[in-house]
Amino acid sequence: MPSTEVLSWLRTRFMPHIWCPGCGHGVIMHSIIRALISLEKDKTKTVLASGIGCSSRMAGYINANTLHSTHGRSLAFSTGIKMFNPELTVVDVMGDGDCSAIGGNHFIHACRRNIDITAVVMNNNIYGMTGGQASPTTPVGAWATTAPWGVVDPAFDICKLAEGAGASYVARSTIANPKQAESFIKNGIKNKGFSVVEIVTHCHTQFGRKNNRKLPIDNYNFFKDASVPLTKAKTMTSEELAGKIVVGEFVDKKTPEYTEQYKKVIEKAQRG
Ligand code: SF4
Repeated sequence: MPSTEVLSWLRTRFMPHIWCPGCGHGVIMHSIIRALISLEKDKTKTVLASGIGCSSRMAGYINANTLHSTHGRSLAFSTGIKMFNPELTVVDVMGDGDCSAIGGNHFIHACRRNIDITAVVMNNNIYGMTGGQASPTTPVGAWATTAPWGVVDPAFDICKLAEGAGASYVARSTIANPKQAESFIKNGIKNKGFSVVEIVTHCHTQFGRKNNRKLPIDNYNFFKDASVPLTKAKTMTSEELAGKIVVGEFVDKKTPEYTEQYKKVIEKAQRG
């Protein structure tokens, strides 16, 4: 049973949730809420935006200012919210397809601008809600309804994509380590800039049952066994890292934040 404090961040009137029993999204929602509590965030000044997909239902369950927007476009909405009121804490939750396919353009440009938003990317390697189609992070060779003989397209590495596009904080964890996920989300929110926290999770219903990880616990154990801390990964060869999940903080740098830069432009324009 969640603590009273965690419960106060949940819209319990909307329970039971729509997620399949054992889905990793609940673990991530708990990590997000715990991070917000630990940073002593005010619900009235916290915004959680989402796009479309199973993960995006989170915007309905978290008791803050929430927005359930259109597929792949949540970062456009979040950007508008942050530009209107830079004092708000904005967390944008998205799935892997939402982030890197339909919303790929919004994602790379949010990284490039370094706007002070925290993107929590729930990467379960599949489009779960719509029936198990391959996403840009489905591993090569994996089964998907759109790839019944195995995926051929090489998968995106969300963290490398975010780093290359200019995000100032980039980290990865898995649902097998929710405390670590919480701490990365917390660091992402604290960062004054665009933060990307990828949390590797599972869709046992649409991905696991067809890819030898049928039960939620099979996925949990897989993530636990496959996780390699960044410090150790640096000593390993690419062959040794094949099939592993490198976890840790990849980027943590100070670069000019977008709303602050924009404010200077407004002041300059007002001076004439
Ligand atoms: S379909 Fe997959 S991602 Fe969606 S709730 Fe079920 S297990 Fe979770």
